[in-house]
Amino acid sequence: MATPVMADTAATTDSPRTHETAPPPLWGRLVVTIREMSRPKRTILLVEDETSIREPLAEVLRSEGFETLVAGTVAQALEQARREPDLVLLDVMLPDGSGFDVCRELRRDSQVPIIMLTARGEEADRVVGLELGADDYVVKPFSGREVVARIRAVLRRADAPEAGEDDRPLEVADLRLDPAKREATLRGETLELSRKEFELLQLLMRNAGSVVTRQRLIDEVWDPNWFGSTKTLDVHVSGIRRKLRDDPSEPRYLHTVRGVGFRFSSPDEVE
Ligand code: CA
Repeated sequence: MATPVMADTAATTDSPRTHETAPPPLWGRLVVTIREMSRPKRTILLVEDETSIREPLAEVLRSEGFETLVAGTVAQALEQARREPDLVLLDVMLPDGSGFDVCRELRRDSQVPIIMLTARGEEADRVVGLELGADDYVVKPFSGREVVARIRAVLRRADAPEAGEDDRPLEVADLRLDPAKREATLRGETLELSRKEFELLQLLMRNAGSVVTRQRLIDEVWDPNWFGSTKTLDVHVSGIRRKLRDDPSEPRYLHTVRGVGFRFSSPDEVE
């Protein structure tokens, strides 16, 4: 159903950003690092075929100071993505295919933040989107205020995921995670982790040997104001387990503490 997007966005102010002269992102060749994406003028690519949603939302984004690119098809989305937006808002049902195809294609060589625009009741869509590497989702019908709040939260995470944290590499047995390089390796092989998976793994490894509650994981990896399903956390934990080839019934690394949270093995617990 086409729902008008209300132009009810409150004036949320971001603190001024300092411009860093990072080398330009090498789209299609290297994974764009988080730092390289922090630019003073933020560009949002809005992929949505319903003009009754797209046009008012694009208007809200522009009025909030975002450079806004629009696309109504998978083909247009991939074309516009070459212009290196800072974030992609991605509808699922598109006339020439699925937003999931766009997500998958973008994730081949880019860590650009992606927020899926999903239909009410399509819980499975949200899980699929997150598994494909989307960062968050909003459920239709949504208000302009809600979308802008999510965009700012996701961009804030992308800009400063390690603010105030220590960047020393973390090691547990043959698993090594290097926060500075945003790289995790298992027995020397690089793990292909989504941004959220990486942040979760980092938080768990930093607290290796101690239980980290579900609430803390959600607060620190998503946002304290995030109100999505906690199922999202489980999807990401399953993703990490699969990539670590860790058996949940007999875990080497990642232990479930029922009703509380998760505990990563301490380095002296595993050989
Ligand atoms: Ca659609």
